[in-house]
Amino acid sequence: MSSTLVLVVEDEPTIATAITRRLTAEGYQAVAVGDGLEAVAKASELTPDLIVLDVMLPGIDGLEVCRRVQAERPVPVLMLTARDDETDKLIGLGVGADDYMTKPFSMRELVARIKALLRRVERAAQLRTAMADDGVLTLGDLTIDKAARRVVRADREVHLTPTEFDLLVFLADNPRTVLSREKLLEHVWDWVDASGTRTVDSHIKAVRRKLGPDLIRTVHGVGYAFEPIE
Ligand code: CA
Repeated sequence: MSSTLVLVVEDEPTIATAITRRLTAEGYQAVAVGDGLEAVAKASELTPDLIVLDVMLPGIDGLEVCRRVQAERPVPVLMLTARDDETDKLIGLGVGADDYMTKPFSMRELVARIKALLRRVERAAQLRTAMADDGVLTLGDLTIDKAARRVVRADREVHLTPTEFDLLVFLADNPRTVLSREKLLEHVWDWVDASGTRTVDSHIKAVRRKLGPDLIRTVHGVGYAFEPIE
């Protein structure tokens, strides 16, 4: 039995039960809660490895849950939305979820995405262990400490979600190189499909909001490039 714990935040009991049953069958531990405030408390108490988070919840909504949980401890979040346009809206807001799925979805796809997210987190952890002290990238006034997963710009620490951090590192490791959304998806998310390109845009937006708009250049119709300031 895996010790990987997934917190499922969903107020529709049939969906919550279906998800936890499937996750348990896949060998994960799964705990379901149906209320936003309870979700924040459980995330703090149980320190789950991943959170599946519905947007529309009683108490506080999924956006606020995501913000509060991420402020306390970075954790991968897969957000469930009711409609595609809701996903677009959230991506526009740069909520800080690592992936999005629109209802209805297949359990198979949900499990595949959860596995991809967990793989990515594990890879990052391995990298962290393997990395010596020289895992520090300094580019102008930006410092990325890969081992400690810390980012400092102009002497100010910047808090990024795990996905935002991985995205920044991949871009910064390939400075002045145009990277397509598909390539970013493949490397950072370990997941490629058509809807995923919007997820990339959302995370780029969030990184720019936190770090400043000048480091990542949009190459229209292609992707993004990291432009270090000398
Ligand atoms: Ca709901």
